[in-house]
Amino acid sequence: MDAPQDLIGRPVNAIDTPALVVDLDAMDRNLATMARFAQRHKVRLRPHAKMHKSAELAKLQMAAGAVGVCVQKTSEAEAMVAGGVYNVFISNEVISPFKLARVAALTRAVLPHEGKIAICVDSIEGIRRLATSMNEARVASGVATAIDVFIEINVGQKRCGVEPGTAAVALALEIRKHPALNFAGLQAYHGKAQHLRSPAERREAITGAIKAAALTRQLIEAEGVSVGLVTGSGTGTAALEGASGVYGELQAGSYLFMDADYAANQLDPAQPRFEHALFVKTQVISTHTTGDPYVVCDAGHKSHAIDSGLPKVHAFSSRSKLEYFNGGDEHGILRPTAGSTRLPTLGSLLWLIPGHCDPTVNLHDMMIGVRGGLLKGVVERVIRVDARGALT
Ligand code: PLP
Ligand code: MN
Repeated sequence: MDAPQDLIGRPVNAIDTPALVVDLDAMDRNLATMARFAQRHKVRLRPHAKMHKSAELAKLQMAAGAVGVCVQKTSEAEAMVAGGVYNVFISNEVISPFKLARVAALTRAVLPHEGKIAICVDSIEGIRRLATSMNEARVASGVATAIDVFIEINVGQKRCGVEPGTAAVALALEIRKHPALNFAGLQAYHGKAQHLRSPAERREAITGAIKAAALTRQLIEAEGVSVGLVTGSGTGTAALEGASGVYGELQAGSYLFMDADYAANQLDPAQPRFEHALFVKTQVISTHTTGDPYVVCDAGHKSHAIDSGLPKVHAFSSRSKLEYFNGGDEHGILRPTAGSTRLPTLGSLLWLIPGHCDPTVNLHDMMIGVRGGLLKGVVERVIRVDARGALT
């Protein structure tokens, strides 16, 4: 197979399998749809870059109006800054002094670019550790920098986040004691709500999140501390937080690629529509036509994540409707769905829609970007997964 860079300008057929392929036309439409949606609702967009882990795509999102990106890990933030993305929010708690020293170093690294680093906290101890690291870095480098700090509140996911209400007020007052920490607002992300299948369930969950965020903001402001911004939301509920008047920033990530798990949500009419833009190209390597017929392809769960379900076979891939069954690390078993008997022949090329885009991207070094469609298109760019495996 050609080296990935040598594929540029070549037809889709030149991409050997298995490979992670981005339909750039679909991705661009998703990019524009979300940018328009945020504009219409007058909310800022800060897409979650843990999804694509690519500085190149982060810059595309910022060119389309995003204020910066979110990441989940210090190492992802480092990959973004190294790739020229200078407005990065670590939307997560960081407690280890080793990592906090790296976070402080990032606040210095973005200074010449007028950038900004932000982070979440949910404990007094966490705030003090962050302040200590910022002070140590100032003393060691002779450069005073600041970091934006968001208090994460638990709005229903029961992951990180202090309880909404008075516990959050105590954290806001603590942040204000440390000159290197700018209290920037609240993070109120409801992860569990994103994949609730019915619009009514999602609305109920997010109504609770909006109330909790508004109440907490009110209690903090009653202490004379202004809450600059409420940030949160994901692809499944963006329309709700976006129209809330409480959230000022949306963190959706998956909208750019749209995985099979998101496609299983029933849509609310107010929700923007996104298209699948991320595919695993795979090839049939073995056929079994007698008895209970099936074929085998060369993409198993080393090619795509299966935590949110197995991949779907893209409709245009094959004349028969196929269902994907787990064949292990390197194989997928494809069976015709009810009423369909034709099977793809040996060597046929198929396109899988991953169940979950974020961990699928993390399995690959590159995403091959195709312009002009997956059947007749041409490879336009090879997108590096800069933060692949970045876990610390
Ligand atoms: N914000 C936070 C804190 C997240 O953890 C996530 C995803 O898990 C998102 C935003 C983006 O969600 P999605 O990719 O579902 O749009
Ligand atoms: Mn995800």
